[in-house]
Amino acid sequence: MSSLFPIRLTARREISPSVLHLCFVRDDGAPLEYTPGQFIQIHFPLADGSIARRSYSCATRHDHHIQVGEAVEFIASLVPGGAATALFQGMDIGDRLEASGPLGQFVLKAGDNNRRYLMVATGTGVASYRSMLPELEAQMNARSVQVTLLHGIRSPEDALFADEFIDFARRYPQQFRYLACFSRQMPEADNALHAHAFHGYVQNALPTLAPDTTHDVAYLCGNPNMVDACVETLKNLGLAMRHIRREKYISQAGAASPP
Ligand SMILES: Cc1cc2nc3c(=O)[nH]c(=O)nc-3n(C[C@H](O)[C@H](O)[C@H](O)COP(=O)(O)OP(=O)(O)OC[C@H]3O[C@@H](n4cnc5c(N)ncnc54)[C@H](O)[C@@H]3O)c2cc1C
Repeated sequence: MSSLFPIRLTARREISPSVLHLCFVRDDGAPLEYTPGQFIQIHFPLADGSIARRSYSCATRHDHHIQVGEAVEFIASLVPGGAATALFQGMDIGDRLEASGPLGQFVLKAGDNNRRYLMVATGTGVASYRSMLPELEAQMNARSVQVTLLHGIRSPEDALFADEFIDFARRYPQQFRYLACFSRQMPEADNALHAHAFHGYVQNALPTLAPDTTHDVAYLCGNPNMVDACVETLKNLGLAMRHIRREKYISQAGAASPP
């Protein structure tokens, strides 16, 4: 386990009815630096005295070296009865936690020469892709890579960071596509999401994108059932496992998983 360091809560808001948006600064004089796609673990005591650990992907749009005292954003599902959920809800601004990391290999790989990234997430799994946006933008400019982001959610209120993804798609209409995949309630016609909406699970949307077995690389993040279903779909469409990168975790809020 990497060593522990203190982090301090600087801001908290509900980004959707079931997800908190939290900002933390590292509180020991070092920056909370990470590579987009990585996560931080928090460590906190439970009622029985044991120490719980929970992981949260860094969500800050990472376009510069993170400075000492600069906040890093996380989004956390509100899980009924969840230990970290109760902790986050009970914290006051300025309260401290123990953390470790950054950890994880779910990052963009130097040297990728694919023509398109298929970025797939359910629920809060989209945090990593938000963090990657500046790096993706740089690659779009440098080597004309295309990016399709599929976000599996239940209803419009679960479309985390949708305004930012829609704006990105507006700026890069030939290169960036944002597809919000609704398992339940589709957005109304006057909702900006409507033009980006697909009715169904993310794995049902994948075939409509005609994955290219040679030139596509897929990233899958979030609900384990979704990740497994997408791997199966992509393999059936001919994509080799070396073109598929995965991070599985259970995240309650807004995650549209197959039954
Ligand atoms: C690499 C990685 C990255 C992660 N990144 C994020 C992130 O960015 N944002 C985020 O919100 N979470 C993320 N998670 C999950 C996160 O670490 C916690 O597991 C989650 O926030 C729930 O914590 P909790 O303590 O509130 O609930 P817990 O105390 O773990 O759960 C409480 C109860 O709810 C049950 N439960 C938990 N989840 C579900 C579910 N989906 N459906 C049904 N029952 C459930 C548990 O079994 C338990 O009985 C990540 C996990 C990993 C491994």
